Amino acid sequence: MKETVVSGIRSTGKLHLGNYYGAVKNFVQMQNDYNCYFFIADLHSLTTHPTPADLHGNIKHVLVEYLASGIDPENSTIYIQSDVPEIAELYLYLNMNAYMGELERSTSFKDKVRSNPDNVNAGLLTYPVLMAADILIHKATKVPVGKDQEQHLEMARTFGNRFNRLYNTEYFPEPYAFSYSEKLVKVPGLDGKGKMGKSEGEANAVYLSDDPETIRKKVMKAVSDGGPTEENQPKPEPIQNLFDLMKVVSSADTHQHFEDLYSKMQIRYGDFKKQLAEDMIIATAPMRERIQDIAKDDSYLRQVAKHGALKARESAQKTIREVRSLIGF
Ligand code: ADP
Repeated sequence: MKETVVSGIRSTGKLHLGNYYGAVKNFVQMQNDYNCYFFIADLHSLTTHPTPADLHGNIKHVLVEYLASGIDPENSTIYIQSDVPEIAELYLYLNMNAYMGELERSTSFKDKVRSNPDNVNAGLLTYPVLMAADILIHKATKVPVGKDQEQHLEMARTFGNRFNRLYNTEYFPEPYAFSYSEKLVKVPGLDGKGKMGKSEGEANAVYLSDDPETIRKKVMKAVSDGGPTEENQPKPEPIQNLFDLMKVVSSADTHQHFEDLYSKMQIRYGDFKKQLAEDMIIATAPMRERIQDIAKDDSYLRQVAKHGALKARESAQKTIREVRSLIGF
């Protein structure tokens, strides 16, 4: 029996290099060896992106870009989260044993409160509970995600284990974050501050669908500084971020070449950024072309989503039947 894998991406905009290297690249690699469920997290998107007029387009972006990245809908189950209402039911049950204190301590909740203090809704607070339901509904053990989701995975294990203890069962297995690379990936943004994100502004992210000229412009504008003033100097955050980006998209030799130039104070940021932009263009080229083709075929996209929803519901309904019986309904 193959191990089960679940992961999703919020339908809050176009996919960027962080989504690709943190999550989708692993999805594509995992699909032959595992029983994979990859979903479009439209329920999660409502915490921050509730505009009805944008919902459909954003769901389509993620679906198209999953397919363009190489996820095979015959091999993996691709579905829209809201097409599987059993997830919302499991979320409700798990909420009964998720505590305010632990939810308030989540780093992503604190970040969201800080960035938007006027919209601290209960959905934001209980985001990790819905994420636990997403994973536990298929009893998954491996979850390909970026570094920013590590704490949520720990919470998913806590909620699953708590359910098991409460109902004296070993029903839910423990899910762990997964990546083929040595460590979980964190792709920084171009603004010199934090991670690349869909909601951090256009200039911060390089999207899989960006054309070469847009990529060049964004990278050339990325925050840098006047250059190192001493040999072997540690790098300030914006520069370290650009090197981290290069480590992800460029070859090891190219990365090492610019590391050496930096250490010897011979780096020219113009050349460095040009190389970074060209490597990003090469890395995204195959997806960029496929995105345009796949986006035109609405009937194919509807068929993929319908087929995926049927498969995902079959698994989710089985879990919900068993969970209800454990609860005593
Ligand atoms: P975003 O933060 O852009 O809204 P999501 O929250 O929908 O994206 O995250 C979807 C997946 O992409 C998750 O597995 C997350 O860990 C991964 N991810 C998002 N941003 C990054 C990043 N900058 N580096 C690595 N992985 C990332």
